[in-house]
Amino acid sequence: MTSQQQNAQIPEEILRRWETRGVSRRDFMKFCSVMTATLALPMTMMGRIAEAIEADNRPSVIWMEFLGCTGDTEAFLRANEPTATAIILDYLSIDYHETLMAAAGHQAEAARRQTMEKYKGKYIAIVEGSIPTVEGGIHCTIGGNSALNITREVCGNAAATIAVGTCACFGGIPAAAPNPTGAISVSKAVPGATVLNLPGCPLNATNLTATIVHFLTFGKLPATDNLGRPKFAYGKRIHDNCERRAHFDAGQYAEGFGDAGHRQGWCLYKLGCKGPETFHNCPTVRYNEGTSWPVQSGHGCIGCSEPQFWDTMTPFYKRLPNVPGFGIEATADKIGLGIAAATAVAFGAHGVVSALRKDDSGPHEKED
Ligand code: SF4
Repeated sequence: MTSQQQNAQIPEEILRRWETRGVSRRDFMKFCSVMTATLALPMTMMGRIAEAIEADNRPSVIWMEFLGCTGDTEAFLRANEPTATAIILDYLSIDYHETLMAAAGHQAEAARRQTMEKYKGKYIAIVEGSIPTVEGGIHCTIGGNSALNITREVCGNAAATIAVGTCACFGGIPAAAPNPTGAISVSKAVPGATVLNLPGCPLNATNLTATIVHFLTFGKLPATDNLGRPKFAYGKRIHDNCERRAHFDAGQYAEGFGDAGHRQGWCLYKLGCKGPETFHNCPTVRYNEGTSWPVQSGHGCIGCSEPQFWDTMTPFYKRLPNVPGFGIEATADKIGLGIAAATAVAFGAHGVVSALRKDDSGPHEKED
């Protein structure tokens, strides 16, 4: 499809209105195009997305943070598709966010209560960080109320809840063994609520934006896998779209950081890359304005978007138990939790031929 054809799908008056707000038609077109592609929708949907964003239906948002590092807020603030300022002002009404709001103390808590009353059953709850449960949840309280109570109250009355980052989705680092605070995920804290998980350390802000755009366009959250993650973002493994995949298939592996193979961009599997068992769209969406992602910058994937990654993906710099050779037909629904052990069993008999050939292997192509 040519850019002219794409241009024709977005009504001229919408493009003009965004121009008057300081967003060029090129940037708005690019935004709609990125959202359409991220959601894996046909490009013919661009116009509908543009109209949904333009419509005056800004949902109210209550963003809460509990046991987390604020990395997801930081990622959100650095969103460039469009900027966080545009998101806040133009198509979201963020009525409560401890890091971003001007109000503090009693004023802030009053704003949360007012938002809940005014938009009961209609607002979006966003949760960052996990929720401690031991000793009545005293390890995280706000205004004298426990995170557990606040989560149940806010998420229980929301139209939908979006858990951002691995801590909110699966407990994350606070829930790593021995988990002294009894930290749990949002979906465990509020089992009856509709919760969509956007794991990652931090989440990719483009996926959050795309989820909200989907909600605005279709009036519902996108389809998810069995772990509550949207399929558009977590439907494929890192390994499926990795730019180093050709080197994996050719048996060309970096053996150490800084060696010749590493400098030539060879596969990081032997340096502990967990890409073969991690579901995320990092290779296609990337971070930092789409410029790079961990594997591109030379570090193996640590599997941060998988449940209990801190316990199940460590040691990070040790290779997976066996050469994974599964194809792209496997999905998150089929694999799921406890995958490291399953990988070893399922692929022990396969191996990658080029990695096992001893006669034709160069210095970086030998099997361990
Ligand atoms: S093992 Fe890691 S670096 Fe190698 S192709 Fe797979 S995802 Fe990429």
